[in-house]
This record gives sequence, structure tokens and C-alpha cells, in this order.
Amino acid sequence: MDETRYTQAIILNRSDYRESDSLIICYTRHFGKLSLVARGTKKIKSKLAGHLEPISLVNVLVVKGRGFDYVGSALGVDAYLGIKDNLNKIYYAGRALSCFNRLVKEGQPDERLFLLLTSWLELLNNYSSIEFTQENGELFFIFFVLKLMTELGYKPEMYQCLNCQEKIKPGKNYFNLKNGGIICDCCLEKERQRKAISSNELLTISDNCIKLLRFIIDNRFNVAKKLKLEKKIIKEASVLTTNFLNFRL
Ligand SMILES: [Zn+2]
Repeated sequence: MDETRYTQAIILNRSDYRESDSLIICYTRHFGKLSLVARGTKKIKSKLAGHLEPISLVNVLVVKGRGFDYVGSALGVDAYLGIKDNLNKIYYAGRALSCFNRLVKEGQPDERLFLLLTSWLELLNNYSSIEFTQENGELFFIFFVLKLMTELGYKPEMYQCLNCQEKIKPGKNYFNLKNGGIICDCCLEKERQRKAISSNELLTISDNCIKLLRFIIDNRFNVAKKLKLEKKIIKEASVLTTNFLNFRL
């Protein structure tokens, strides 16, 4: 492997390391997720530190080290100030990056994941901070999680019953958190009789929530802006998405 590599990276996390260094976890365009040591970043005069804040896009030179690789130099491309001027946005961006960091493993480069992350951050960054409500935040987060899960091979099945493969009809349906998809009322009864399913793997799902999740999975991020939804539906979708996510973490 080359001694130095140059790439773009999103900073996911930064923590203290040794006396004056930091350990940076970032997702790079060409090499996937990397843990890098940034030397001297805790010193007051550090030029590097300012570019390596979490929720930033940077051009970074990665230098091969004996243990960890380290940051040779870093230049900020986008600090996403439109996110950082709003506490609500920071909260949701933080949640998204944290779940990304936990779900995505090192050593598996995937440019599509990098583009998903950057396009989502950009959209959040450009959304009017004055108009950004908690519901907007939840919706942004649901979008991100479902797109990420889909990209990682956990796309939930929203059209057919996981068990009988019949088309899902409006009415009583359930979401199987463990297997990621809908099961119909009829199949649930059979599963219950066989005692093949435990109740903590299931949530009931309303017809409107099914429609919303289908819409999100089938569309691009930028439609999030146009959706006008009742708080109740967003809440239901948010609880479901968070629980679905927790089965993978
Ligand atoms: Zn079924």
C-alpha cells in the first residue's frame, strides 16, 4: 500500500488520544471508514484541529503509520455552518452520524455511502434554519436511516407479507423489526400459534405509515422538504425506524 493517500472525508467522530492528539473516525470517499490519529490537535495553536470537527467535509492526506494511520494534512471543504447554527439540526446530524458510524464497518469502501452521507448533510445544511422543526428533524432522520439500511442490504419489505408473500392489504398489519418488513394479520396468528415470534420483534403499523415508508424508500432525499404530514404519522414512523435500527446495532 502507498505511504500516503489523498481523499475526501466526512468527520464522524473525534475523541482524545494520548496527551495532545485526537483519534478521528471518518468516512472517506475512496477508502471507506478510517480511524486516524491527528497529531497535536489539543494544542492551542493547532491548525489541523479546526478542520477536523465532527460534521465536516475535508480534503485529507492520510499517511501510513505503524499503528494507526494519521492525518498528514486536512483542508476544510464544507463545515456545514447551516447545520451548526441550529441546535435541532446538530442533534439530528449527530444522531445520523452516530448510527452511520455504528452500522458501517472499516475496510469496506463504498462511494455510494459517501455520496449518501454528503448529499443528506448538504440538504440538512440548506434547509431554512428558521423553519426547521422537530418534525422536520425526525423526518430527515427517518429518511437517512431507511436509505442507509437499504444501501447496507437491509431494505425493509413494504409491499408483500414477509411470510406468505401476498400483497399487503390495508387494515391490520405488523412490522417485523428483526426481519425487516411487513407481515399480515393472518400470518401473525399462525406465527403466534407456533410460538415462532416474540412480541418485542413486532410493531403494529398503520396504513398511512406503510404509505410513508414506501414513499421514503422509493424516493430521493430532496422530496422530504415537500412532505406535509400529521405529527402522529411522523411519530409512528420514527418509533418504528428507531426500533428497526436498534435491531441492527
Ligand atoms: Zn402473510
